[in-house]
Amino acid sequence: NASTNSAQGTTANGAYKVSSKILSSSVPSSPRIAQAGAKARSQSPPSALDPGWPIERRIAHIMKTLNGVDPIACQQIVNDIMITDSKVYWDDIAGLRGAKNALKEIVVYPFLRPDLFKGLREPISGMLLFGPPGTGKTMIAKAIATEANSTFFSISASSLLSKYLGESEKLVKALFYVAKRMAPSIIFIDEIDSLLGNRSDNENESSRRIKTELLIQWSELSSAAVRDEDGDTGTTNGDAAPDSRVLVLSATNLPWVIDEAARRRFTRRLYIPLPDPETRAYHLRKLMSKQRNGLLDEDFDEIVAATDGYSGSDITALAKEAAMEPIRDLGDKLMDANFDTIRPVNKQDFVNAMKTIKKSVSKDSLKQFNDWASHYGSVG
Ligand code: ADP
Repeated sequence: NASTNSAQGTTANGAYKVSSKILSSSVPSSPRIAQAGAKARSQSPPSALDPGWPIERRIAHIMKTLNGVDPIACQQIVNDIMITDSKVYWDDIAGLRGAKNALKEIVVYPFLRPDLFKGLREPISGMLLFGPPGTGKTMIAKAIATEANSTFFSISASSLLSKYLGESEKLVKALFYVAKRMAPSIIFIDEIDSLLGNRSDNENESSRRIKTELLIQWSELSSAAVRDEDGDTGTTNGDAAPDSRVLVLSATNLPWVIDEAARRRFTRRLYIPLPDPETRAYHLRKLMSKQRNGLLDEDFDEIVAATDGYSGSDITALAKEAAMEPIRDLGDKLMDANFDTIRPVNKQDFVNAMKTIKKSVSKDSLKQFNDWASHYGSVG
């Protein structure tokens, strides 16, 4: 899609589309000039653009000042990986109060008030969310981006290794470049274990190169200095280095696979556990608030007790399955049914749904998470 002719705007999944006009104006006219420019500028890391500028203006500016970064890769980042309209808020996430509080302190406040978080209080550049699948790690990443008013970049390590293989190094470089200029930014890398895993035996040359590029770019974040020399872009928020407001946030269901060197780069490793009863209750009530139901308080209590060991996504799947029961009851009358006459969901629907939707996380793997958390993680 490098030759997109579409107008600027967001696509259905919220990724940003940039017009071909912006792209073509950004392609350096001479490779030699581009090289020289890149060399001259390599001493001065790119500064963040003023977040007060409209997003189109910032993107247009980035595309005109690529500093040797691959324009096609940059366009891919902007089109496919930068997410602009997927707003998730803390309140959408059930429970995890500890994790939310930790994340506010570690990421959100430092991003919003860089003037207060300098020196020892400087925000960290690497954070790992680990835990069983379906516990809300991706939701949390999105919520941090929303609550910290930052630009959100989302990519899975497996797509770097498959969909973008061959161009991944360029893409990683472009990702960090755009993120720095669009700071404050969150770079969310899902399934990070598949990239930073300790599987040297079957690691091929290209995945090793991507891994190296990622680690280089990442380590430059924390050591980077501040502003453009041309001073045309100035960042505004106090004196903090804008590069310190780019966070690599990763998620994994297999934290023990990450090798030790990579593990150390995640300054904080936060355990996102299975939901406790209070969280399951909140989640269930929230889901059922959008659905006509006849559930009493004691019904909720029973369902909550019966779903011990269910993950957040298991609970969502269970509620969806239960909501199907009244529809199934209609049988052939479905085609003539009026929405308002469909009976409310009841407790028996949940009992039936539980026969189909079971917990997805085993006791053994829970133990593995708890062990890893007690050695290397902090509990959210
Ligand atoms: P993970 O990244 O941990 O595998 P996700 O964040 O992708 O899990 O969650 C998958 C789905 O499960 C979400 O879209 C949501 O419907 C539901 N879910 C999981 N955890 C929660 C939670 N704490 N609060 C609300 N919904 C949740």
